[in-house]
Amino acid sequence: MSQVHAEREIALNLYRHNTPLMVRVLANRRLTPPECANEVHHLTVQFPAGAFPFLEGQSAGFSPPGVNARGRPNVPRLYSIASGRDGEDGTGTTLAICVKRVLYQTESGQQAHGLASNMLCDAQPGDLLPMTGPAGREFVLPEDPPANYLLLATGTGVAPFRAFAQRWAQWPAEKRGKMWLFFGVQTHGDALYADEWAARAEDPHFRMTYAFSREETTADGRRMYVQDRMRMAGQELLAWLRDGQAHIYICGVKGMEVGIEAAFAALAQEAGLVWPVVRQQLWLAGRWHVEVY
Ligand code: NAP
Repeated sequence: MSQVHAEREIALNLYRHNTPLMVRVLANRRLTPPECANEVHHLTVQFPAGAFPFLEGQSAGFSPPGVNARGRPNVPRLYSIASGRDGEDGTGTTLAICVKRVLYQTESGQQAHGLASNMLCDAQPGDLLPMTGPAGREFVLPEDPPANYLLLATGTGVAPFRAFAQRWAQWPAEKRGKMWLFFGVQTHGDALYADEWAARAEDPHFRMTYAFSREETTADGRRMYVQDRMRMAGQELLAWLRDGQAHIYICGVKGMEVGIEAAFAALAQEAGLVWPVVRQQLWLAGRWHVEVY
């Protein structure tokens, strides 16, 4: 049994494509307002007690119906579980995922839609869906209450951090370290779970920093991204790098990792540290985690 997960063994792939767990849709709520160009849903599903033991940071898979271009059944698409281990209602028999409806133009200019995301965004309470997982063991939250957690998210990449924050809040307040979420989205309407983050931020140990890329610009006129906010945090963030107590998690769009590394490198240089060495130490200590798509 892993030391950091001593309270619960990591369950992996109990259900696969050919042997899925059938789950019932409990609720499907649109998170972004109707006027927002991005349509993101919070989908809650239910399953029998004990059937799907998961840890914060793991994913669940959902397969669209039908077959792919080669005539094979569509494979599951993975979504980070947005709920802590006790689920949406504390019973351990539900979980939620965060799904953005994918619409795009084909090369011939036709409107096309993502099969899995549209199936999930259109799911109705009572529908049965085949689910796989739990998947993933590298991005889970360790049972390390005194540590500090630096969470860097863009868009729906915030889903696992909602789960992290729920678990973190279950640890005794006097034993917990700090949690700081940097969250990059296009507009205020895209700020997923904003009400929940605002409630969490009443705890002085939880901190929230947004970057609104289509509403704010940097001093040199670029879109404001999480890495720009990190640079602006300067000394405070540097202190997190230096104290050796931080776990760093990055989740979201693919390009963010490069920008975040550059921000860390600039901060490290200011302090006379060599970023590749610092990152290597974080990685070796199991404190550097990246999940970008
Ligand atoms: P999005 O709306 O496309 O982007 C979110 C924010 O990231 C926007 O403000 C965007 O700015 C900004 N951004 C774009 N390029 C960036 C860069 N190089 N560095 C920093 N910020 C950048 O996000 P999304 O469509 O929700 O996608 C989120 C990603 O997370 C997807 O790739 C998804 O697969 C992945 N993910 C999803 C889940 C899940 O469970 N659903 C879990 C883990 C990861 P601009 O658009 O204004 O440039």
